[in-house]
Amino acid sequence: MAPRCWRWVRSSVWSRTRPPPARSTRAPVFCQWFSSQTTPQICVVGSGPAGFYTAQHLLKKRGPQQLCPLPQHHTRAQVDIYEKQLVPFGLVRFGVAPDHPEVKSYGAEDHRVLGIPGEELHGVCSARAFVGWYNGLPENQGLTPDLSCDTAVILGQGNVALDVARILLTPPEHLEKTDITEAALGALRQSRVKTVWIVGRRGPLQVAFTIKELREMIQLPGTWPILHPSDFLGLQEQLKEIPRPRKRLTELLLRTATEKLGAEEAARQASASRAWGLRFFRSPQQVLPSADGQRVAGIRLAVTRLEGVGEATRAVPTGEIEDLPCGLVLSSVGYKSRPIDPSVPFDPKLGVIPNTEGRVVDVPGLYCSGWVKTGPTGVIATTMTSSFLTSQALLQDLQAGLLPLGPRPGYTAIQALLSSRGVQPISFSDWEKLDAEEVSRGQGSGKPREKLVDCQEMLRLLGR
Ligand code: NAP
Repeated sequence: MAPRCWRWVRSSVWSRTRPPPARSTRAPVFCQWFSSQTTPQICVVGSGPAGFYTAQHLLKKRGPQQLCPLPQHHTRAQVDIYEKQLVPFGLVRFGVAPDHPEVKSYGAEDHRVLGIPGEELHGVCSARAFVGWYNGLPENQGLTPDLSCDTAVILGQGNVALDVARILLTPPEHLEKTDITEAALGALRQSRVKTVWIVGRRGPLQVAFTIKELREMIQLPGTWPILHPSDFLGLQEQLKEIPRPRKRLTELLLRTATEKLGAEEAARQASASRAWGLRFFRSPQQVLPSADGQRVAGIRLAVTRLEGVGEATRAVPTGEIEDLPCGLVLSSVGYKSRPIDPSVPFDPKLGVIPNTEGRVVDVPGLYCSGWVKTGPTGVIATTMTSSFLTSQALLQDLQAGLLPLGPRPGYTAIQALLSSRGVQPISFSDWEKLDAEEVSRGQGSGKPREKLVDCQEMLRLLGR
């Protein structure tokens, strides 16, 4: 029988070679301290960016002074990074849109569910699974989304929603030189999706996406944006009270919705064959089934209005209902972390490990980084800083003698445990072989790599 996919990479090997991909994503991670007489041994679970940034800071010669005046690193620490996938880097590899190789930015193991009737129908899936599908995540390769419909609806107005809309609408030839999987590219070439609605339960002032991603959508070749000027009434007057990043974003939305197009832009839009639009003040109520009850035919939305001010602004139903016909529904309402083990405390409501500055509450020697520490918010710089602070807390505790002492065997014990379960670990040098294979497979078509998506094939390539 093939070994199970619980593998390890040793960051001591990694740390001597190169830093993690420059702008990468967050993934749940926690660290466990193992004491030993001579060499502090630290175990990091999760090889996404939070894991790598944490390990990097523990091992690195010099950390950023402003973040961590003392201590900077540990000269003798041995850090092992464990990963359940056969390949490292978590959502740097599996989350980031293939056309954004420079922006690696989201993580966590699971998606939030909407909890509305019809969510189980054929034609409904989570944006997380869709992203995993086009990025080659083995567990999502069976998704095969049906792109034979004319209209897709994305629920939620965050950056993931825009990533998914962009991949659905980008002319496939623009994705050919990215590391998108060949299967996804093939499906997108056959796609008949012409319109994508991105639906928010609140208004233009509450969108969760950022200006760079919006600008990219507005300029997406072969598409035109549909924004209703009536959604933006009164916003011009509110602009002066809005903090700067939100103000610039709102100004761009306003301009796109209300300004008359220049000749060039008008010509570009006139020749466009695909469209995307933002629908505001609409909260999902039910996925509507087709006549045979088998698949999606539309989405029922409750029209909302806003109550409250500032952060507390919330959408309340007006009582009015609207049905939007569509053949594909992608829910993109955020990510959440999963509990890692019964022995590790977990707050299921917030989806985080209860912690103080990365120190897991009531478990000395256990630390957490990434979205499992903070919840699924922020950009890469936030995760990097947060991961450095967690390693800083660990190093401080180590220096202060606060970590539990006693014989802990570290990797030796893990190795024996894995062996007793029939698990054959994949090492970092194994990954380097897979990496070389992927790069070589991509070369023929000018891609940075053709990702291996079949675990059995990967194991065969490694002679297992
Ligand atoms: P997000 O930014 O939290 O956005 C979630 C969206 O879903 C919001 O519009 C939210 O509306 C809506 N929503 C939540 N619950 C809902 C419900 N029950 N019904 C209807 N709508 C609901 O999440 P995300 O897009 O998954 O992104 C996660 C993080 O990754 C963010 O920090 C994001 O910036 C980052 N990211 C960055 C990039 C990039 O930099 N290019 C790319 C992808 C992701 P409300 O505001 O009303 O709750």
